[in-house]
Amino acid sequence: MPHPVQQDSNSCGVIVTMMAKTVMEAFPALPLMSFGTSKKEMADARTKFALGILNGSVFDIDNHCAMCSASKPPGSGPPTTDWIMCDTCQRWYHDLCLGMGKDQLLHARASKWDCVLCN
Ligand SMILES: [Zn+2]
Ligand SMILES: [Zn+2]
Repeated sequence: MPHPVQQDSNSCGVIVTMMAKTVMEAFPALPLMSFGTSKKEMADARTKFALGILNGSVFDIDNHCAMCSASKPPGSGPPTTDWIMCDTCQRWYHDLCLGMGKDQLLHARASKWDCVLCN
């Protein structure tokens, strides 16, 4: 079966997922594997998968961290934490989950800040 070929060393998971999706969508016919595998197409596919998973998840986007999906700070950290909202998608993130220090957080709040999905 002809199929697109991986062009980098780290997109095998993206390509396998896209192949599986193509097979399932075409079933029972034979799939036509025609998606691109350039660096940009792989990055776009990752973003699309991530957004699809986040959009399909059940947590309340306004009160839960988009990184850990919890409303409380993660793990055994302090009982309170700071939050930051993405200026593009309006998702909220714990500063702890982003590994942001206080200086980074203040700087990010003072200017336009895009999360990992929108960056
Ligand atoms: Zn979090
Ligand atoms: Zn965002």
